[in-house]
Amino acid sequence: MKKNKKPFIIGNWKMTPSSLDQAKKRFISIRKAALKHRNIEVGICPPSPYVFPLAQLAKKGKIKIGSQDVSVHSEGSHTGEIGASMFETSGAVMTLIGHSERRAAGDTDAIVATKISQALKTDMTIVLCVGESDRDDHGEYLNVIRKQLKEAINQLGRSQFAQLVIAYEPVWAIGRKDNVAITSHDLHQMVIFIKKFLKELWGETISSIVPVLYGGSVTAENAHDILWNGEVDGLLIGRASWEVESLSAIFDAIDVPRKTLQVKKKAKR
Ligand code: PEP
Repeated sequence: MKKNKKPFIIGNWKMTPSSLDQAKKRFISIRKAALKHRNIEVGICPPSPYVFPLAQLAKKGKIKIGSQDVSVHSEGSHTGEIGASMFETSGAVMTLIGHSERRAAGDTDAIVATKISQALKTDMTIVLCVGESDRDDHGEYLNVIRKQLKEAINQLGRSQFAQLVIAYEPVWAIGRKDNVAITSHDLHQMVIFIKKFLKELWGETISSIVPVLYGGSVTAENAHDILWNGEVDGLLIGRASWEVESLSAIFDAIDVPRKTLQVKKKAKR
């Protein structure tokens, strides 16, 4: 993460909270906490029914609203499905695609690719989630990531890269009760790997622009190390984004460089 860039922190609310009233309260308190951090970009991906009401609240600024998925279809006889343009016209400015919980529910790489092509018909930012289930000693997990990336973004033209964010979320690190996240060293290696893949596809300049986020058991304890030493551009946070206290503690933990810079500035005067 370059020190002059704003980290992008996305909260994945998954299937919580259980009422719109709670969602609004949670959103308002998170916005209050986020407003204290000018140098952090914040996004929230709530359950689909809350996208429109929270996007209305989000008009006051600071927090971007996103969906957790989009349909493979645009519209038509597909009961229960929600198309990308429906989310966009309801106020979503981004969408997760390929989250491991969607992949576990049946989304193959081909389905992920179709969902991306649907989202490309909108202006929403696409947060493509990739991640291996296990790490082996022979580097096979790298082939898993390469395949997920290749099948999902091969279809993107050079001009569409600006819509793309990659979230590296190793499945083995997601939702762990003991909060086992990746080490910042291993994460940095993976960031280099993903950037190399992008470079081969689109060249150096574009590969340096496409943001790479990390997700998987991020807490206030590990967020600073993961973000700054892992050299990612932001974090995708599940459970710790469900309570304002835990998310706010993460904002505080990662906002240190800005404070450090201010201290340096003051010292100069
Ligand atoms: C996620 O589901 O995207 C995620 C990162 O979950 P958690 O932070 O709870 O591991």
